[in-house]
Amino acid sequence: MASEANNPALRSWIEVETNSHFPIQNLPFGICRSPAGGDLHVCSAIGEFVIDLAALDEVGAFDDTPVAGTEVFHEPTLNAFMALGREAWSATRQALSQLLRDDCDELRDNTELCGRALQPANEIELQLPVDVGDYTDFYSSREHATNVGTLFRGADNALLPNWLHLPVGYHGRSSSIVVSGAPVRRPQGQTRPDDKQPPVFGTSNMVDFELEMGFFVGPGNVLGKPVPVGEAEEHIFGMVLVNDWSARDIQKWEYQPLGPFLAKNFATTVSPWVVTLDALEPFRCRGPEQEPRPLAYLQCNDGAFDIALEVWLTPDGATATRICESNFRYLYWSMAQQLAHHTVGGCNLRTGDLLASGTISGQTNGSRGSLLELAWRGEEPLSLDSGEQRSSVQDGDTVTLTGWCQGDGYRIGFGECSGQLLTAH
Ligand code: MN
Repeated sequence: MASEANNPALRSWIEVETNSHFPIQNLPFGICRSPAGGDLHVCSAIGEFVIDLAALDEVGAFDDTPVAGTEVFHEPTLNAFMALGREAWSATRQALSQLLRDDCDELRDNTELCGRALQPANEIELQLPVDVGDYTDFYSSREHATNVGTLFRGADNALLPNWLHLPVGYHGRSSSIVVSGAPVRRPQGQTRPDDKQPPVFGTSNMVDFELEMGFFVGPGNVLGKPVPVGEAEEHIFGMVLVNDWSARDIQKWEYQPLGPFLAKNFATTVSPWVVTLDALEPFRCRGPEQEPRPLAYLQCNDGAFDIALEVWLTPDGATATRICESNFRYLYWSMAQQLAHHTVGGCNLRTGDLLASGTISGQTNGSRGSLLELAWRGEEPLSLDSGEQRSSVQDGDTVTLTGWCQGDGYRIGFGECSGQLLTAH
């Protein structure tokens, strides 16, 4: 079913630019206000338009899918739809694709329905698409782990002994997850700038971004019943861009022995459109070779996806500079391996949980996915097109992540994950 909606030759009666992130082959899911009535509904995106799926459901557009009769598109979050499972998501995307094809006039010629279902994307307010339950952040980029380990512990002790054997991760905080466009407040906390002096309380002076991607859990698993790695993707609804904002000075003092706490829990930004694994399927690829070979419960080697990633930094009132180019395929551990590992001890995942990748760095200096690495802890400040330099994010700076899969004449994109850093309280 997925393959038909993925046909690169498909065109829509809605005009879509070739570099748009939202051609008919994508059809991501999100939440926006209905043009008629103003309620929050499940929606999709195509070109410069947003489509209200509840309005289409009311006229029977999804009657032949498992969504029929469920009213899930009238919910203010994606959770109920996500819980229905992959067959429902695939059938919805296929039905929508059919309605939007240039050889289908059913919706195109229904002016009244178009008025209730379609609205320009630039007129809508972006919503957090999911009521996020638990948030887990992994640490799955070998290059990032090596860079950070080198900076914090030295080159000889960079990669800890467990790293090549399991996807290292920690349980994060979901309450401070915000959608792209929401400002982020510079945090305060405890730091120890001088190892020979007592710690001090104050404003963080080393706010950083982390280029990550994350996936939302669709159907969960029962407590005590692990998900085998080969079935893991059945539990993955789709992916978003994630900026795991970090305060490096707070992190450096607090992280041992249990990992980051206040350094990470002040904000995490996600992009508003959830791109399904069905839409990403044509871009599946092999990840890096895994040596030593992982234990049997983690064996799976085609779980990577070729997703080009960029980070742009825009000082207040100045021009934007692209400061990083990376790729999701660089990650050592795949989403399927992360999910299998997360549940192998019996932990239950629930619909709406967010599992993020960890910072995605590559092998070149320009593919480092955080300012900590890009400016090598301040030793090599980054030069911006505005003439300024950066070793950390400054008040007023906007950090924007973007990403897409490049197809033949089209892109499957994620839009933007953007946030401006505000002065501390
Ligand atoms: Mn992180």
